[in-house]
Amino acid sequence: MSKILNFLPKLTGSFALPASENPTIEMVEAAYRHHKMHMRYINVEVGPDNLAKAIEGAIAMGWVGFNCSIPNKIEVIQYIDRLAKSAEIIGAVNCVVIKENELIGENTDGKGFIKSLETIVNPKGKNAVVFGAGGASRAICVELAFSGVKKITVVNRSKKKGADLAELVNKNTKTKALFTEFVDQFSLDPKTDLVINATSIGLFPDVDTDLPINYNTLTKHMIVADVIPNPPKTKFLKNCSAIGCQTIDGLGMLVNQGVACIELWTGIKVDESVMRSRLEEITLKSRNW
Ligand code: NDP
Repeated sequence: MSKILNFLPKLTGSFALPASENPTIEMVEAAYRHHKMHMRYINVEVGPDNLAKAIEGAIAMGWVGFNCSIPNKIEVIQYIDRLAKSAEIIGAVNCVVIKENELIGENTDGKGFIKSLETIVNPKGKNAVVFGAGGASRAICVELAFSGVKKITVVNRSKKKGADLAELVNKNTKTKALFTEFVDQFSLDPKTDLVINATSIGLFPDVDTDLPINYNTLTKHMIVADVIPNPPKTKFLKNCSAIGCQTIDGLGMLVNQGVACIELWTGIKVDESVMRSRLEEITLKSRNW
């Protein structure tokens, strides 16, 4: 008996501007192939001006969902029907699920970070120092708080942004957050358990830049994480490893936020190692993403 073929894959994708340096298509399609999922991921270059039309198109074409990246993560909220709790608090959406013409806005950035962190430590009850107060930091701080972190110290160069983030955590979660200005040779409190770089310091092509911290205050019991996915081994992580700290790179966050998106779109939990391998393969060939 001949097999009935289905030439109509389910569609997912990304709306970002620029889009050509975003490797998400590679890691997501690697998972789709590995799990023999009849799905495609389309990388689309679209910014706020055409976002409404792009979303209408996605609905018309029956997409099951899409990612939003810079500069659409906040812009997209006006088109969303329902926001997940963390996305609402964070105030940004990186993953949209389309279900029966309804748009559900999720934020998986912080969840991906926590998943990656949990490969080494359970954050519950820990004291965290988080450098940065931008989109990545907001997502991380909110999810750290939901994971039961005891205290978050937000360290940021711009005072207003840092203070606002600490207030956001204090207002919406049970975790205590405070703000400290990011001064040169920043000293870490010896009670710190988790040290997290959520700034863009160290991102390609600025691979030789490092966080201006006093490394004499970093001890080997501290667990250190970086959000920078490219290069995965930032100067910061290399310096912390040299002191004896366990480290977690930004590729883990990138991969796990993608795993969470695919699960939201399809209900299927894909193998994160397949996605990570694909990104590592790309990193070996090119450094420009
Ligand atoms: P934003 O532009 O929103 O925030 C950048 C943050 O970095 C701000 O807090 C800014 O401080 C701080 N910063 C930048 N340069 C310096 C500097 N020289 N000294 C001190 N502080 C500095 O960016 P995002 O939060 O969206 O992204 C941050 C990084 O996270 C990016 O590199 C991005 O690639 C990465 N990322 C990784 C993800 C992953 O899955 N691995 C997911 C999302 C993001 P100030 O407020 O003072 O300007």
